[in-house]
Amino acid sequence: MTTGKWAERLNPTVRDIKPSGIRRFFDMASEMKGVISLGVGEPDFVTPWRIRESSIYALEKGYTMYTANSGLPELRQEISRFTADSYSLTYDPNHEVLVTVGVSEALDLALRAVVAPGDEVIVPEPCYVSYQPCVALAGGTPVSVPTRGEDGFVVTAAQIEAAITPRTKALLLCYPNNPTGAIMPRAELESIAELCASRDILVISDEIYAALTYEGEHTCFAGLPGMRDRTILLQGFSKAFAMTGWRVGYALGNADFIGAMTKIHQFTMLCAPITAQMAAIEALKNAREDMHRMVNQYNYRRRLVLKACREIGLPCFNPGGAFYVFPDIRPTGLTSEEFTERLIREEKVAVVPGNSFGDCGEGYIRCSYAASVENLTEAFKRIGRLVQRTP
Ligand code: PLP
Repeated sequence: MTTGKWAERLNPTVRDIKPSGIRRFFDMASEMKGVISLGVGEPDFVTPWRIRESSIYALEKGYTMYTANSGLPELRQEISRFTADSYSLTYDPNHEVLVTVGVSEALDLALRAVVAPGDEVIVPEPCYVSYQPCVALAGGTPVSVPTRGEDGFVVTAAQIEAAITPRTKALLLCYPNNPTGAIMPRAELESIAELCASRDILVISDEIYAALTYEGEHTCFAGLPGMRDRTILLQGFSKAFAMTGWRVGYALGNADFIGAMTKIHQFTMLCAPITAQMAAIEALKNAREDMHRMVNQYNYRRRLVLKACREIGLPCFNPGGAFYVFPDIRPTGLTSEEFTERLIREEKVAVVPGNSFGDCGEGYIRCSYAASVENLTEAFKRIGRLVQRTP
């Protein structure tokens, strides 16, 4: 909430948006020495060298200008090829692919393209911190559907059906999930797909963590029967290729959606940075091995932190994807915020309180395991010490 002298003159929607709950703990961490941060959702790897090198060459050759609004044609072709290889889904690079400034921009564009004032967007929670504010900024109303650790944070078609009203326009999905790491059983996604078709609901599917799936195969929502044309699929380079700072992602969908999103993008962003686009071409063409190497590392660390949780007595369900664990801290008798605050003050470990991702995240903390094995081992030793001091 903004409360200063000019607050009354602000757009009320913007004024009333609460700042992310994560900020306060990051600020505390940045003022202290010796903090191990498991807070940020960012790979600890540097972007693979071949990707960095390709953009250095691009700069040397003088690639410093705008690109087409929808992105470099070669990049759109590579994205189309990568999607066909991964999910046997084809998108026309000329009309059905839009290169964006990260998935962040793609999400904003997708929502602004489809949401009209008063429309409702169903958002299963816990969810990425941007979803609710972005729906509100697009003029819509987010409708939360809570999920539970006891159910593996899986959302069911029945829960979604119960949240549908005559104003429901879209469903916003994110699997593998941030913050829980949950993946969805294919059969449940199929039931959700049938529901969306029968109730004429659009789907925005944020699959930024798709490549980071450790248990079974990732199900691409757009690949389910009848879903390709009613789904806007969001994908990016930040997580899979360790490219958070480059700011490049993309949206795939039918030409009506992508055309509308391109309209907003051309008047607000023009295009994604050319060096990042050149780097993204290299990533898709030649860095898939690097991606697999990083994914294997994350999987190793996932097992390590799950074992550490067991050893220190924090129940934690088995996350099948992304790079987060979401342990249940209720046995300590502390709230998520109390636990997080004590952990940083007493043991110098930064994590994120689960309630930052929705009310149903209360009683949990999010720990990113995109950190070195050494830091993870030390961090869980410290978390264990705090747990021992609680009831
Ligand atoms: N979607 C989810 C679920 C995320 O976790 C993140 C970043 O943490 C983003 C989107 C933003 O990604 P990008 O860096 O591509 O903007």
